[in-house]
Amino acid sequence: MKPIVNQPKNIAVLGCTGSIGTQTLDIVDKHPELYRASVLAAGRRVDELIGLARHHRPDLAVIADESALPRLRDALEPLGIRTAAGASALAEAAEEPGVEMVVTATVGYSGLEPTIRAIRAGKDIALANKETLVVAGDYVRRLLEKSPSRVYPVDSEHSAVYQCLAGERRNKVRRLIITASGGPFRTWSRERIAAATAKDALKHPNWDMGAKITIDSATMMNKAFEIIEARWLFDMEPERISAIVHPQSIIHSMVEFTDGAIKAQLGVPDMRLPIAYALGCADRLEGAERPLTTDQLATLTFEQPDTSRFPCLALADEAIRRGGNAACVINAANEIAVAAYLHGQIGFYDIYDTIAHTLGNASYIAEPGYADYVASNTEARTIAREYIKR
Ligand code: MG
Repeated sequence: MKPIVNQPKNIAVLGCTGSIGTQTLDIVDKHPELYRASVLAAGRRVDELIGLARHHRPDLAVIADESALPRLRDALEPLGIRTAAGASALAEAAEEPGVEMVVTATVGYSGLEPTIRAIRAGKDIALANKETLVVAGDYVRRLLEKSPSRVYPVDSEHSAVYQCLAGERRNKVRRLIITASGGPFRTWSRERIAAATAKDALKHPNWDMGAKITIDSATMMNKAFEIIEARWLFDMEPERISAIVHPQSIIHSMVEFTDGAIKAQLGVPDMRLPIAYALGCADRLEGAERPLTTDQLATLTFEQPDTSRFPCLALADEAIRRGGNAACVINAANEIAVAAYLHGQIGFYDIYDTIAHTLGNASYIAEPGYADYVASNTEARTIAREYIKR
């Protein structure tokens, strides 16, 4: 009898030069028998993309920045690697034939279209782009109901919930408890936070992440997004999702059941574990991460989140209560405000004020379709930009 030879799974990594993208490619590198990066796509960092493509030899390499195409083509086409550029090429890459799983590791609103295209093409998704479900959760959920695609969360909190739900009956779930590190300003007074610069905010205590998500973590907007994401990912009523501050980031989230039992998933704060769990479609990869020590276990603490110092956290309730395109507006305003904060143009609490102003002035759409999200995103960005200029 001939031995069964398993082919490595072809994956597309969108956002391959970022934090999640490079950690995904680390796992691919260590397990060539399991995974092959057949599509690599990046935003602007063309030299890093060329380096990764030379190493991984994908079928296709895509750069969103169109001006970088000649450089990409000259470097990769002699190696037999197809190249393409532009936002539409990046979205098309999510449909590439032969790809079984798409890792959506791009940051921000731009992750929405490729994720939708991948779902329409029936690909499995390792979902790292949280804005997809924040912006258009209801819409994406309805698409998934009609698609063979399965979504495996990469975000550590959602991966933890997913792991806690394994083998459980959904009607026995009472609530989800999403843990938050509290970010770099957890112990700071409101006055001190108000004067904090982007440099202060970029010093995250536990996680090494990209700049946008690190600022979102400092404002706790990230946690508000994760609550919205959990609402759609697990089809859970918002009043049954709460956040708790857990400064050590060892417990990645918890699920409470109807008999009062609470299951938690613990591990060192390292994204390679949830990435590997998603790539393996909820199978465990041996030695994915270093084990937790008993010393680390002896220090676990919890605190109630403080929405007076971190008002962005309360925007999750606001978005869910308003429904429709509210979360899309909040996300767009937040992207503009965070970019302005990173450039030193506004102060820390101006991020919240910009979002609140935009939410109060943007058009409300109760049942948005895809075109409405696109229009709403554009309108909200304009309102946020004008508010910042004033
Ligand atoms: Mg997270």
